[in-house]
Amino acid sequence: MPKPTFTLPDLNSFCLIDGLGLRVTGQQIRHDRAVLECRVAEDDRWCRNCGGEGVLRGTVVRKLVHLPLGWRPTTLWVRVRRYRCTDCARVWRQDTSTAAAPRAKLSRHAVLWALKSVVIDRMSISRVAAALASSWHTVNDAVLAAGRQLLIEDPHRFEGVKVIGVDEHCWRHTGRGSHYVTVIIDLTPVKERRGPARLLDMAPGRSKAVFKTWIDAQNEDFRNGIEVVAMDGFTGFKTATAEELPEATAVMDPFHVVALAGDALDQARQRVQRETTGHRGRSGV
Ligand SMILES: [Zn+2]
Repeated sequence: MPKPTFTLPDLNSFCLIDGLGLRVTGQQIRHDRAVLECRVAEDDRWCRNCGGEGVLRGTVVRKLVHLPLGWRPTTLWVRVRRYRCTDCARVWRQDTSTAAAPRAKLSRHAVLWALKSVVIDRMSISRVAAALASSWHTVNDAVLAAGRQLLIEDPHRFEGVKVIGVDEHCWRHTGRGSHYVTVIIDLTPVKERRGPARLLDMAPGRSKAVFKTWIDAQNEDFRNGIEVVAMDGFTGFKTATAEELPEATAVMDPFHVVALAGDALDQARQRVQRETTGHRGRSGV
């Protein structure tokens, strides 16, 4: 191993703050949690309307759950400047979209950490929520949204789909019962012997209503193109198909939907592994 080259210790890089467009200005460490006070790195003081200069009108705090550091849930206390344009009177705040999605409660790193913990390390949502000192629903929503975005990134994936499979998977067990997702896969390549099934979408919950709402949300071209809906036998999916896609045939598992949906999810897991850790997981993980 080559001799390491040291630089000066730096909280911004060590705590993954610099990638969020923030810098740390203070810390408060208690035995059970830590708060990092941050500022937005970019000044952002020029009006996007007219190019005039903004006058500082105080700051507001945006609190973001960050990933746990040093065994402690860590919160970012981001002081965001507010400006008012001297020319056109427009009022704005410094842009924090690099740190977190609009209205999100978790920093972008916290979202990836949560997604990795759930999908790769198979931690329960409750444990992830406890590690982040956040609520179950906040974490669940963030993980599902990020999962969908990361796993299912191809905007053209709905084109040319003729055969879909629908299945339910246990997403995570919690103390209050199990949580399910309805998984929709594209079986067209399997039927045409061109390749493996692809993950099309995931929707929280498992019921006739979930699948019905999902079909309803798709565009007309997609719905008209569906010839076959394969499922493992849950009658709710069958009724939803009959009601929403009367032209399509509902069939009971000729393609082994359950196994193929599992494969598609495994591929998706490997993708999360690559995106969140930068290397491939063991095969089968
Ligand atoms: Zn202006």
